[in-house]
Amino acid sequence: MKKITLLILLAFISISCKSKKEVTKKLQIDATAVKYANLINIDTAKEHVFNLASDEFEGRKTGESGQKKAAEYLASHYNINGIPKYLKKNYFQIIPVSELINKRRKSTSNNPSENVVAFIEGIERPEEVVVISSHYDHEGIKNGLIYNGADDNASGTTGVLLIAKAFAKAKKDGHGPKRSIMFVNFTAEEQGLLGSKYFIANPILPLENIVVNLNIDMIGRIGKDRQNDSDYIYVIGADRLSTELHEINERMNSKYTNIELDYQYNERNDPNRFYKRSDHYNFAKKGIPIAFYFNGTHEDYHKPTDTPDKILLDLLVKRVKLVFHTAWEIANRDERIAVDVEQEKN
Ligand SMILES: [Zn+2]
Repeated sequence: MKKITLLILLAFISISCKSKKEVTKKLQIDATAVKYANLINIDTAKEHVFNLASDEFEGRKTGESGQKKAAEYLASHYNINGIPKYLKKNYFQIIPVSELINKRRKSTSNNPSENVVAFIEGIERPEEVVVISSHYDHEGIKNGLIYNGADDNASGTTGVLLIAKAFAKAKKDGHGPKRSIMFVNFTAEEQGLLGSKYFIANPILPLENIVVNLNIDMIGRIGKDRQNDSDYIYVIGADRLSTELHEINERMNSKYTNIELDYQYNERNDPNRFYKRSDHYNFAKKGIPIAFYFNGTHEDYHKPTDTPDKILLDLLVKRVKLVFHTAWEIANRDERIAVDVEQEKN
């Protein structure tokens, strides 16, 4: 009886030790990453969302003065935070009017427009580049009403600014990423992903050097399919070209952010076809792994009522932290994330 009890006790101890070890291994927290993720906060997020979606920027219509003001705002943020430009002259990749023509062969702008590009050079593998993106243009003014585009996409653009600032501070403190990180704010997305189309067709770096594109478009609201349940983000496309990307995003979420990763819109037969509806798609078409972070559409989508007061800042910050941790892991791990042999058939 005694011997049996002892055996049971020993077995129990060995099982509990093993599982404890597994848990610790699984949740090996990177304290450095957490330190810089914590720079992503509600106060700064609020400032950017309210500035980018302010009436002063007049709905940021491609080629118009409001979009130019927004471009200057982004460039000055990168500059103030010590995030270098990548292009020689300034932070702008200029897109000529001739390239701002949509599928219906309609010219969408009377003026050239700008993608905004900033860059943090990697310490060990600078030629390998993680691209974090958002579009910053929106619908402008129609019938005298300003389309502020707070969720679409001041929210995602805020995310890119916050992530850039966190990586820049890390590098300044001696924790620069192994791989390079490029921050790109695209113009002319609303006219048919034209800013990213130009970026891919007129590359400023060899496309084969782009390890991944993490694209953020609308992350400050709750979508119409998720009314009573806010702690989520739709992740689209992450598993289509790289299983590893999908797994890293999931692992970073379970370690650091614990939000529900909703794959409803990642279904191949999703009638909304969101996979093809933001800038990452132009990367995916070139076989570059992508992940698209999105909260879904809602009653204010593409309406003048998409205003900054409706942005849920705590939720936005949490979602941005997930993108930050995924980027941090991809930029700092030993191996470049693998592209699966079977290519996405678009
Ligand atoms: Zn958008």
